[in-house]
Amino acid sequence: MMHQELWTKFLKVIRDNISPQSYKTWFEPIKPLRLEDKVLTIQVPSQFFYEWLEEHYVSLMKKTLEKELGPGAKLEYNIIVDNSGAKGGKVPYTINVSTSNSVKNNHNEVSMPINVSGNIRNPFIIPGLKKVNVPSQLNPKYTFENFLEGDCNRLARSAGYAVANKPGGTAFNPLMIYGGVGLGKTHLAHAIGNRIKEISNTKTVLYVQADKFINQFVDSCKNGTNSDFLNFYQLVDILVVDDVQFFAKKERTQEIFFQIFNHLHQNNKQIILTSDRSPRDMKDVDDRLLSRFKWGLSCDLQLPDLETRIAILEHKMYHDGISLPNEVVEYVAHNIDSNVRELEGALVSLLAQSSLNRKEITLEMAKKMMKNFIQNSSREISIEYIQKLVSDYYGISVENIKSKTRKREITQARQISMYFAKQLTKASLKNIGAYFGGRDHSTVIHACQTVNDLIDTDKRFKEDVEELEKRIKINTL
Ligand code: ADP
Ligand code: MG
Repeated sequence: MMHQELWTKFLKVIRDNISPQSYKTWFEPIKPLRLEDKVLTIQVPSQFFYEWLEEHYVSLMKKTLEKELGPGAKLEYNIIVDNSGAKGGKVPYTINVSTSNSVKNNHNEVSMPINVSGNIRNPFIIPGLKKVNVPSQLNPKYTFENFLEGDCNRLARSAGYAVANKPGGTAFNPLMIYGGVGLGKTHLAHAIGNRIKEISNTKTVLYVQADKFINQFVDSCKNGTNSDFLNFYQLVDILVVDDVQFFAKKERTQEIFFQIFNHLHQNNKQIILTSDRSPRDMKDVDDRLLSRFKWGLSCDLQLPDLETRIAILEHKMYHDGISLPNEVVEYVAHNIDSNVRELEGALVSLLAQSSLNRKEITLEMAKKMMKNFIQNSSREISIEYIQKLVSDYYGISVENIKSKTRKREITQARQISMYFAKQLTKASLKNIGAYFGGRDHSTVIHACQTVNDLIDTDKRFKEDVEELEKRIKINTL
């Protein structure tokens, strides 16, 4: 039997026996290498990975293997650590480890002879620099306890938790958390840092926003303190960089961050990154850096569903010692589905309103307030309103949208407005045309088709349209 064929059968059994998430995390990254005399050799990405498999799955793997190959089957690991130097060259080295063929093989037996072949990394030491007490810049109010779990954040949250409990010692290095605004990236990043400090106060944790990092670096160039900057960052044990999308187009910053990243990673220091988009969608970032962003685990935060939104509101109310009728909480959670920040904002306005008026918060009041909160009292979406929001979004005037101008960005804003007018109002094509400087119905049809085509083909455009739709809807509750 070929190793590939065996591996496919092997995976099938494993998949039936563990959760899809564990399967994805721990088995998909494995590569089968060869099969010789009942010994299957597999490649795993790190020492930690190997230990994890041995600790959690050894008996399942053993049984599965014996089922296919008969008694005496053995598993051998190749641990491939990508040990790239600061110059970007890849120097992988291999550790061959054989598991004993006893089913009882457990974590305690892991310390068996290890044959190391190839180059071992050569961590460089900075002379004359000692660890200083670096204030971590963490905000203690962001913790795991108050980061509510939902389908929207389960993977990111539990990966974050794993990292916090074993910084630098999991396969999740770097841990990249990405997602849209107000979905909890910053909160989660702080929570990880806070948790690490809670467990061990000997570790140096440093949180920094990417734009601050950029400014510090620019200053260090001006002041000729470049190497201090580099050394400082290379001293930390856990580095959290928030909003790394700001590194785009900043080539020199990327270069220095690349060096810091490599140094920390080689020394098993934990790196945590957040970004408003996945590494796949990052533009104007050097490929070498991007590939490193993908080394560990990337996981996204999504929009919370209704239940999670309710839970977040209730948690916050409990924390602030307030209570609201269920129907009010549900109303708010139901109507604000853009992001958590806005959800919290609505709650705060509601409370402010009620204390100002010294009135209990009722559903009626919530409905009224939400209308003010979003500054639009009509439930119906009007075409004028769409035109206003779209032109604001693109920074052009409503006059332009109605005009005959054929400038590209104006034409596009006009077409998007027409598209929304068709989608979100009951107006006829003719009627819509009339709102746009008296154009005829075929122009409106053409606009809708163009927008639909662009949504299918242009990701950026699609995101714009989605964002606009959200804005139009949220403002017309
Ligand atoms: P981002 O960095 O993604 O823009 P933040 O981390 O600043 O978002 O989160 C915005 C607000 O929403 C913060 O006040 C945060 O505490 C809150 N928040 C986000 N997600 C959750 C969650 N799952 N549970 C509780 N609060 C949350
Ligand atoms: Mg943030």
